[in-house]
Amino acid sequence: MSPLPLRPALRVLLLTVIAANASAAQDTGRRWKVHDLERPKPRIVTPGAQPGQAPSDAVVLFDGRSLDEWTSRDGSPAKWVVRDGYMQTVPGAGAIVSKRVFGDVQLHAEWSTPSPAVGKGQDRGNSGIYFMDNYEVQVLDSYENETYADGQAAALYGQHPPLVNASRPPGEWQSYDVVFRRPRFSASGALVSPARMTVFHNGVLVQDNAELWGPTNWLQNDPYVKHADAMPFVLQDHDHPVRFRNFWVRPLPDLPTDERGPRVSRATLVVPPAVLQRYVGTYGPSNNAVAVITRRGSRLFIDPFGRGTPIELFPQSRTRFDFHHTAGTAEFAIEPGKPPRITVNVAGIERSAERVP
Ligand code: MG
Repeated sequence: MSPLPLRPALRVLLLTVIAANASAAQDTGRRWKVHDLERPKPRIVTPGAQPGQAPSDAVVLFDGRSLDEWTSRDGSPAKWVVRDGYMQTVPGAGAIVSKRVFGDVQLHAEWSTPSPAVGKGQDRGNSGIYFMDNYEVQVLDSYENETYADGQAAALYGQHPPLVNASRPPGEWQSYDVVFRRPRFSASGALVSPARMTVFHNGVLVQDNAELWGPTNWLQNDPYVKHADAMPFVLQDHDHPVRFRNFWVRPLPDLPTDERGPRVSRATLVVPPAVLQRYVGTYGPSNNAVAVITRRGSRLFIDPFGRGTPIELFPQSRTRFDFHHTAGTAEFAIEPGKPPRITVNVAGIERSAERVP
């Protein structure tokens, strides 16, 4: 029985389906290919000379010398004392408020509680760092000092206890490194996404992307109320002489949103298997192959540098192919009387070789 001739309309439909399938296979939903040279390069930040020191793009809120970045709640000058490179709560002087406002930030701060320790539970070395005036990371002397779990040092007060107690003894300098993501609200005031915090206490992970269910408060379980996108830091005066130093923040951009999304669409060609077959083989010496080309039906694969990991090739023309998902191209040159030649470019590194017999 002879094969039925395909009607032209059906043939067009079939070819369209093949092309659409190939196109779907190529689209990972990611904007960038692996090792894509078009992908924007990260900007340069000069890190601090020592761990914990402010990097070049940090906003230093306390450099050990002045309270210029802070005020009292009522806007009058901050009444805490500055001495020997630290600032210290003056019991009864009230909280201090940063003049600048922030949303998403990375924070580094160092603090120490009085030594010898005085009082117990919440009444021992208590202060706190409020992000956006609403979300407190507790500061407390939690070294051999019992209190409720969601109120000890590095707790997100009243909500999340730290994963572990990494406290140092009173009088020693301790550090917080925090990544804070502010809550997002819709125009009508509905919560779109809650605030989140990741906290390292003395270098130990104690809050792992913890989600806050509202402002942190004593005895309260308050819901979110829409607030500004940028608000001040507040340092708590809890009637204990707690010290702070080396306090800096890095405002953070929104989380990247351009990772996903359609790539620039490319015409997808269907190259006849007979043409693809001409490219099959090993290019370059067997101990140092530039590429091994194989074919499965109408699909062509490249094993760059003969590493045993074939990658599908997508034809951009009959001689030029893109790597699947990766920033790579393979181009074939066929001249009469000569073995085929391949030029492989992977992330800007180009190698060329003839096919070995
Ligand atoms: Mg507190």
